[in-house]
Amino acid sequence: MLEPIKLGISSCLLGNRVRYDGNHSHDRFLTQTLGLFAEYVPVCPEVECGMPVPRESVRLVGAPENPRLVTRETGIDKTDQMKAWIEGRLKDLEKENLCGFIFRSKSPSSGLYRIKVYGDDGTVRKTGRGLFARAFTDRFPRIPVEEAGRLNDPGLRENFIENLFSFQRWRNLVDTNQTLGGLVDFHTRNKLLILSHSQEQYRKLGRLVKVDP
Ligand code: SF4
Repeated sequence: MLEPIKLGISSCLLGNRVRYDGNHSHDRFLTQTLGLFAEYVPVCPEVECGMPVPRESVRLVGAPENPRLVTRETGIDKTDQMKAWIEGRLKDLEKENLCGFIFRSKSPSSGLYRIKVYGDDGTVRKTGRGLFARAFTDRFPRIPVEEAGRLNDPGLRENFIENLFSFQRWRNLVDTNQTLGGLVDFHTRNKLLILSHSQEQYRKLGRLVKVDP
C-alpha cells in the first residue's frame, strides 16, 4: 500500500470559504471519497495573492492566450499581483511532489477549460484558462490535472483516477529506485494496465525497457 496520494486542489472545493462572495464550492466526492486516499494541498490563488474575502469578482480580458485578470465592475488590473504570487507559489509546489491537481471549473484564476475571455471589442470567447491553472500546467506538464466538475463524468473520473495512481507509482519509482531493474519491474507491474489501453504502446515500451515481446 502506497502513502496517501498528494494532490493540489482549489481550496474552495474542500469547503473553505474563500470565494469572492464568501462562499465555498464544497465537493463531497473529493472530500469524502477520494479524500480517503489523498493528502490535499489547498491553493486559493485569489486569496493567497492578497485579495480579501469577500471581494469584487474578477474576469479575464484581452487575448485568450495571454489575457489580463481584471475586476469586473471597477476594472482594476490584478494581473501583475497574481503573476508575482504565482512565481513564488509554483516554486513551493515543486517541492510538494504532487501527483495531481484538481481545479475548480469556471474560475478566471483556477479554471482549466473553456474559461470566458472578454475581448476589448466586446466579444466573449470561451477558450481561456485561469491564470494560475495555465501557469501550473505550463510548469508541470506531466502532472495529471482535471476540473472538479468534469469528474462527475464516470469515464473522465476513471481515467483521471487511473492517471493519479499511475503517476504516484512512477514518482515512487523515480524517488526510490532509479535502476534499470526498477524500470523493468515498473513496466511488468503495469503490464495489464498499459495493455488495456494499447497493445502497440505496450510493445513499444517493452522494446524501450527490453522486456517481452
Ligand atoms: S476557484 Fe480558485 S481562486 Fe476562486 S475561490 Fe476557489 S480556489 Fe480561490
